[in-house]
Amino acid sequence: MITVENVSKSFRSRTGSVVALDGVSLEVNAGAALGVVGPSGSGKSTLARVVSLQERPDAGAIRLDGLNTATLDTRSLRATRRQIGFVAGDAQLFNQRTAAGNIALPLEQSGVDGPQRRARVGRLLDLIGLTDKAAAYPVDLTDGQRRRVAVARALVGEPGLLLADDPTANLDADGAAGVMAVLDRARAELGVTLLVATQDTNVVRRICDDIALLEAGRLLEHGNLFELLHDP
Ligand code: ADP
Ligand code: ADP
Repeated sequence: MITVENVSKSFRSRTGSVVALDGVSLEVNAGAALGVVGPSGSGKSTLARVVSLQERPDAGAIRLDGLNTATLDTRSLRATRRQIGFVAGDAQLFNQRTAAGNIALPLEQSGVDGPQRRARVGRLLDLIGLTDKAAAYPVDLTDGQRRRVAVARALVGEPGLLLADDPTANLDADGAAGVMAVLDRARAELGVTLLVATQDTNVVRRICDDIALLEAGRLLEHGNLFELLHDP
């Protein structure tokens, strides 16, 4: 379970300071899918980066299964980060590597041996429905297929939590549906907890059970989507 406790984060800008998150508290239960929604600039990406431990909050805490991540030393922080997958809508693949080669990259970096790499990459190619494209280069894939490869790369380290920042951005309806199906399968078959920052109402409808609504860095609503819709 992920607990975001009273988290604030500001950025300095030329004109002063921008408050990206302002005292946000929320929870995501293990195995749940939380959609973080809100207008552009409301703090969705910042929340995703803070929860994935890419950025430290100015105040407040991120707890992962009760562990306060602010207390971790550099080494433990790095190890904890590896248990969190992150994929952005503009996720860049390496063009000179095949689909399989892109998915295998984090495993190569962490020294996982060849046979195990092949097994894990094979499983993920199956999960994203691209087994027949293992040897294809990104240039020969559709936008939606490339995005699915990026999701597979984020999952190959077997994280318990996957953060997806605007995963369906700039995709056509088919491409978006394919990415949603992959995120849903990751949850159903791998048991990952999902936090999805999105403005895509289809993503919310189809794959999220809880939502957090942000506006100007503040949490306006948080809870079960069905209950929020039926109990205004
Ligand atoms: P969203 O994902 O909802 O569009 P963001 O989290 O990207 O919102 O941004 C929230 C606010 O914080 C915006 O005003 C944005 O300009 C600002 N912001 C986000 N990241 C940075 C950064 N690295 N440097 C300066 N300002 C930032
Ligand atoms: P690249 O040329 O992009 O580096 P490689 O063929 O060298 O791609 O493969 C990179 C990694 O992907 C290797 O770890 C390999 O085990 C794995 N891999 C390649 N093809 C497959 C496949 N069809 N199924 C599963 N894993 C694969």
